[in-house]
Amino acid sequence: MSAPVIALKGVCKAFLTDDIETRALDGVHLQVQRGEFIAIAGPSGCGKSTLLGILGLLDNASSGEYTLAGTPVANLDNRARAALRNREIGFVFQAFNLIADLTVEENVALPLQYRSDLSKREAQAWVKEALARVDMSHRARHYPSQLSGGQQQRVAVARALVGRPTLILADEPTGNLDSRNAELVMDLLAQIHADGATLCMVTHDPRSASLARRTVSLFDGRVVEDHLNTGHRADRTTVLGAR
Ligand code: ADP
Repeated sequence: MSAPVIALKGVCKAFLTDDIETRALDGVHLQVQRGEFIAIAGPSGCGKSTLLGILGLLDNASSGEYTLAGTPVANLDNRARAALRNREIGFVFQAFNLIADLTVEENVALPLQYRSDLSKREAQAWVKEALARVDMSHRARHYPSQLSGGQQQRVAVARALVGRPTLILADEPTGNLDSRNAELVMDLLAQIHADGATLCMVTHDPRSASLARRTVSLFDGRVVEDHLNTGHRADRTTVLGAR
């Protein structure tokens, strides 16, 4: 079996403000295998965003170990971390975070900008393919402001998957959408999972969480529950050729 995509051992994160220490994460152990789709749940303030930030190499753990796709991340310098993040991780945010003065296709192309292993022609083909996967090819030359929220999030999903990352991290991906668009975006994520992606999603929405194969619940910075969901739609634990 290949190395887990995510291996966390005793990960802690403390924030110090005005001499008061908050332990946002307090000894998190977690393994996620290639092809899994997990939901990270728990009440506000339990550490979900902090965990996602560490998983996404946007922040460092205070202690403990994080190994991403076989690479221990603790001692990487900033440049190596950025390169690893760019190659291995795609992000989907609650607020879409598209760049307003770039077109849809320019936004989707952004993660490929630093990929010296791809020719320009390959990069263009990958952008085209990503837009087709989220059914947004017909809006390639539009700007984000010309799209609905649901369409913007589909473009953000294309940007997350364009570089064929090992891991896709989604932070409340349906939080800014009405129920119909939320459902469309969740169907899309479920499809991407069925196609082989490994996904970790923070969500408050039980319907979104139920699409994941597994739910990891946090409370006060600790994993208090880790269970397989019954009756979810994307029932696949092993996946072929995720990259
Ligand atoms: P969640 O995403 O589950 O709502 P967070 O990860 O945002 O929780 O926060 C976990 C805890 O860490 C909270 O008590 C929060 O106030 C604290 N926290 C998060 N980020 C910071 C920060 N940059 N500085 C100080 N405290 C923080």
